[in-house]
Amino acid sequence: MKLEHIGIAVANISEAKSLLQIIFGVLPYKTEAVESEGVITHFYHAGGVKIELLEATDPSSPIARFIEKRGQGIHHLAFSVDDAKEDFQRLTNLGLQTLGEGPKQGADGKHIFFVHPKDTQGILMEFCSKSD
Ligand code: ZN
Repeated sequence: MKLEHIGIAVANISEAKSLLQIIFGVLPYKTEAVESEGVITHFYHAGGVKIELLEATDPSSPIARFIEKRGQGIHHLAFSVDDAKEDFQRLTNLGLQTLGEGPKQGADGKHIFFVHPKDTQGILMEFCSKSD
């Protein structure tokens, strides 16, 4: 298991993009909407890690509600696993509160699920594997 990316919730996507361009000199290598989550994701390779900027598409989306409650900033840490389905079961069996009924289709061609931050020192954790 290793760090796959860092998800950052941003209120103003053009400001966030300019900042990454100024600091790292990079542009997103991929931009993708995930309609079910009301989010547009912007992926970067910056500073040796993958960064996912998360832009809400409507005020009721989870990202918009996150920003309303906690402000902009780190939204989740994502870890790559071999099989998201297996780890979903494993972590659920360990008593961690996983979100949803099982892994779902996320951005970047991945199967993803989340573990509730109340069980992980306040950090929302995403686990992802390549879709088959
Ligand atoms: Zn993510």
